[in-house]
Amino acid sequence: MTTDTTALAALFLGPGQPLELIRAAIPTPGAGETLVRVECCAVCSSDLHTHAGRRAEPTPTVLGHEIVGRVMSFGPGAQAVDARGDALAAGDRVTWTVAASCGKCVNCRDGLDQKCAALVKYGHERVSRDMPFRGGLAEVVLLSAGTGIVKLPEGVDAGVMALANCSTATVAAALRTGFARRNRPGLAVAVLGAGVLGLTACAMARRKYAAGVVIAVDRDAARAAMDFGATHTCTDLLELETLTKTTTGGVGVDVAAELAGTVHTARAALAIARTGGTVVLAGTTLPTDPLIIEPQSLVRRLLRIEGVHNYVTADLITAVDFLLGEAAGGAAGGGGVGETEGAGFPFASLIAARYPLEEVAAAFAQGHDCAGRRVAVMC
Ligand SMILES: [Zn+2]
Ligand SMILES: [Zn+2]
Repeated sequence: MTTDTTALAALFLGPGQPLELIRAAIPTPGAGETLVRVECCAVCSSDLHTHAGRRAEPTPTVLGHEIVGRVMSFGPGAQAVDARGDALAAGDRVTWTVAASCGKCVNCRDGLDQKCAALVKYGHERVSRDMPFRGGLAEVVLLSAGTGIVKLPEGVDAGVMALANCSTATVAAALRTGFARRNRPGLAVAVLGAGVLGLTACAMARRKYAAGVVIAVDRDAARAAMDFGATHTCTDLLELETLTKTTTGGVGVDVAAELAGTVHTARAALAIARTGGTVVLAGTTLPTDPLIIEPQSLVRRLLRIEGVHNYVTADLITAVDFLLGEAAGGAAGGGGVGETEGAGFPFASLIAARYPLEEVAAAFAQGHDCAGRRVAVMC
């Protein structure tokens, strides 16, 4: 519990070491900063990778970036409007971009906010014991200037909305990129990997982009994809090639989204894209074997390959609107998906369990054990 002056944070010291709950003074927001009380933080796969030592982050850190909270106070000059321009006040429920960017460096000026030279990424920063509040596994988070804050309505599930600022927004960026070349109802999409990102991609491809064919491939979770709008599923990559041929009349898919994070799925994505198709690689953030591409296969097929890492604030707004639309019964997406009309895709089912912050160790234990779903920590 927060006191008037202190709050808890779960300090990550390194792989194999227990998360340490520490109490520190609640900071006073400085110029441009916003202080937020955390309501819920979902434990993302990247948190689990860091926790298990599969990827390295500076330590000590406070993990957690899929966060829903409530504004506590603003520092001098902090924008009292959210990313949509709506008034923002203490007590408002919010989520925010995974990172804050400066808005001035060459990458920010070119719309690559997530690659800002002065990026502050929540749940990924080295912290001190005096001021650990830079990640979601804590009772408060201090938001830097340049964070895209999006107001949320009351009454929607915090666990579901916490997905917005990582998996849903990343998928929003991936599909925005995938459909940039061609966007009309009835296109064919392949989703490689049916974890939280992949299931979200199936749902968004159907609802927001009105895709006609959505093929999901996943060794374990292909069937779950049917509940999230996939029209066809399979469990291996050979089957994927066959299924792509039969469902697209031999043409191939307009958009192939690689979300499984393996070189094999990336290779398969390239193989099943149609002439003039777009392959979006968004799943691979850890080292793999090289992806070998014969240049003429890109040239002759007019292929576009796009890497997508994180997202910009507009994608978070897309993500929030999408999840709110699904929570409201799938009404607000535009696309019109026959069999799911009147019922939102079951995003609440992606939250496998909820733990209080004091039981964060148990939350991680279960998180490692429930691939394809999230564990939420309620702060
Ligand atoms: Zn910048
Ligand atoms: Zn994440």
